[in-house]
Parts: sequence; structure tokens; C-alpha cells
Amino acid sequence: MTTESQQSPTTARTSNTSNFRGPDVPSPEDMYKCVHCGFCLQVCPTYLETGLEAESPRGRIALMKAVEEGRAEISESIVGHWDMCLQCRACEVVCPSGVPYGRLMEATRANVERVFKRGFKARRARSMGFKGVLPNPKRLDRIGGLLRFYQKSGLQTIARKTGAIRLAPGGSLEKYLPELGDKFFVASGQIIRPAGKVRARVALLGGCVMRLTHGATLEAVTRVLARNGVEVYVPEAQGCCGALNAHAGERDTAREMARRNIDAFLEVETDAIIVASAGCGSTMKEYHELLANDPEYVEKAAVVAELTKDIHEFLADLTFEPPRGSLATEGKDLKVTYQDSCHLGQAQRITAPPRELLNAIPGIEFVEMEESMVCCGSAGTYSLIEQGMSLRLGRRKAERIVASGADVVATANPGCVIQMEQALARAGEGAQVRYVIDLLDESYRRGDEDGDGADTS
Ligand code: SF4
Ligand code: SF4
Repeated sequence: MTTESQQSPTTARTSNTSNFRGPDVPSPEDMYKCVHCGFCLQVCPTYLETGLEAESPRGRIALMKAVEEGRAEISESIVGHWDMCLQCRACEVVCPSGVPYGRLMEATRANVERVFKRGFKARRARSMGFKGVLPNPKRLDRIGGLLRFYQKSGLQTIARKTGAIRLAPGGSLEKYLPELGDKFFVASGQIIRPAGKVRARVALLGGCVMRLTHGATLEAVTRVLARNGVEVYVPEAQGCCGALNAHAGERDTAREMARRNIDAFLEVETDAIIVASAGCGSTMKEYHELLANDPEYVEKAAVVAELTKDIHEFLADLTFEPPRGSLATEGKDLKVTYQDSCHLGQAQRITAPPRELLNAIPGIEFVEMEESMVCCGSAGTYSLIEQGMSLRLGRRKAERIVASGADVVATANPGCVIQMEQALARAGEGAQVRYVIDLLDESYRRGDEDGDGADTS
């Protein structure tokens, strides 16, 4: 049994006056790499929106140093600036000193949750979400089922029209509820076999939110993989990867979730673990850091981290079958742009493969949009907790999508899909949000239907 008092690699301490206390403290070595050059400021979404130093990477690191050196306590105001960070890691990509900002902020948040006492409502919501629901797939499914009934039965329409929803607990958040899929994706140990020769055998992560909101996309992932000669196994014992917990500072539960998935995914030998949600892939590739001081799991965590592949990365490496079905309509190409999900483009540094897939699809005119690497404001649970900044960034993103003239914005993460759909709807704009994999799957399907891949309009 592993104890949570075991220290992470971010616990090396240089100062005995530090106000970071207990396990999971940010590493001074990491924070003192920052030389205050300011190169990161112009890529930081919260700095771009506010122009405030305290809402920049450099400002947040300065606050960490102040706490580390005992010049400041972990106060409400300091926590507010750290909470405002989206953990998009845009700063990490441009930093010439190699500040591992994602690791720093994750450890900082974990320490905040140990040392700082949040208000009653926040504590209750965090306990329910991070400890009660996310680690428990069956409970998540039950809640998802109830919410789907609420949406599809007409109750949602009545509750919104009458204003009754405002009286319900958490009613103010109801407007952010994403549309749940008609069918949830269930991990039941199923195996999806390709028709022909098997080129690779993989395991697939279903995840938590994506299974409920975009189960059809996970089905598309299995079809695309099988089409490319890949046998897909979906382990039943898997659960949520722990990304939302890790990003919110709930590292103990994140570790429990990681251990569960490590056991589930190492149960059979596979060539890769495929992840279709950028945030989950990024966390699973860092499981060995999360469990660095767990002697029972650290090596297994490193194996899982090594095996984990983002679906776009995997297909590009495999050399995918060229799609033949055109997505043009009435002779007109579908204009598609791409939003780099932060945890794909920045945390995993995967930017070319999704574009390669999109450019391979006939009947697509691919256009880049401005600021495709700037966070859309989703950032896991951020859109629920930091609603003001999330709305501002959503609006900013919708403006960039519209300016690109695209009919479709493609992306690679459920939170980004939901955030951009809601932002475009609020802006009254009709551009669609699609997963890259759904577009690829549609092209394969149309190619099969048409035989020659001609325009189906
Ligand atoms: S770019 Fe790096 S070194 Fe420069 S201020 Fe930002 S975090 Fe510090
Ligand atoms: S992670 Fe993103 S929001 Fe946070 S400081 Fe870095 S660039 Fe800014």
C-alpha cells in the first residue's frame, strides 16, 4: 500500500522559511529557473486579456518565490492569481530557461489544497466532484444518465423557460452543461478487430467526460483504427485518467486513479495505449512524475507513459490509409481550421499530425486561424470555476474562428469542443466544431459509399 505522505520529485526544499508545507510542494529548483525575461507574457491568455503582471506566468512564479522565501503566506489573493492560470502551458513552450511551468503549477495547486482553506461551498463542490464522482465511473454514468434524461425529456426546456433551474442547487452552472450523447461509450472489455491483417494491437482509454458527451467519437476512433489494421481492446477495469484532479491540485485522488488505470492497461500486452482526448493523453504521459515516489508503481507508470499515444500521433506514425471520400458539398470544399488543444499542442507538442490528417481529406480546404495555440478558455473545470475569464477567452476564440472564414473548426479534446460550441452559439455564429477523427471517419465512410470518393452532394 502506498502512502500519500511519500514525496513527489517536486519536494526538494532549499529554504526552511518556506510557506509551502507538507508533501507536494513546488520545487524551488524549477521556480528559480525563471530569469524574469518576460518572453512568456505575450503567449499567456490571461495576460493577453488583462495586461496584469500578476496574471502572467512570470508574475505567478514571482508569487511562488515570495511564498517559498517566506515573504508571503498562501493568501486568498495569491491563490486567486494561481487559480486564474489555465495551465495551458503556452508559457512552457516559449520559455528560453526551460521552466517546467506545468509541473510547477500542478505542485503549487496541490500544496494550496493542503495548506489553504477554501470556503464551504468550494470545499463541498470539490469534494463531490473530485472525490465522489470522477474516481467512480459507475456513479458518473448514473449522473450522466439522469442529466441526459433531463435534457432529452423536455425538462431542460421547461426549467429554462420558467426560470425554475435557478432555484436548483448549482442551477447557475446549468447553462454550461454540455449536450450529452445519445449513447455513452462503455468500456466493457470489448475487442474491435480489423477486417484484414493486424498491423498493431492497442488498448483504448474511454475517459470520463468524453465517454458521456462524445461517445460517438470514441466509436469513430475504434472504426478508424480498425480500418488501419489496428486491433482495439477497451479494458473494463479502466476509469477516469485523473487529469482533472491533478490539474486542480487533488493529487492524492489523481494518484489513485492513475494506479487503477495502470493496472487496467498493463493487464494485457499491447503496442500502444491510444488516447483521443488531449488532456488525458498529456496526464498519462506524465504518470511516472505523478507516481515518482511510489516504489510499487513508478516503473509501471513509466511503462504506461511510454505506451501512451495520442490518436493523431499514432495514426501519423503508423502511416494511415489515405481517406478517399470528399467532404465537399455541392462542389464547394469544406473550409476547415484547426484549434490546437493546449494539452496536445503545448503539453504533448503535437501540432503537425492533426493537420496532416486534415490535409489528407479530400474536399477540405484547410486554413489556419490566428491564435490557434491560444487557449479557448475551457481548461478542464476552469470554465465552471473561473467563468468570467473563460467567457472572455471563449469570445476571443469565436472571433478568431469567424475571422478565418471556416465552416468547421476541428480540434482534439472534449473540453475544447464544448467550449467552442458554446462560445460560437453565444456569438450567434454557425461554424461547426468537430473532432479531427470524426472528419477522417466521415471521409472513410463516404469513400466506401461512393466507391470512387466523388463529391457526394
Ligand atoms: S519565459 Fe521563462 S524565464 Fe522568462 S519570465 Fe517567462 S517563465 Fe520566466
Ligand atoms: S499556463 Fe497558460 S494561463 Fe497559466 S501562466 Fe502559462 S500561459 Fe498563462
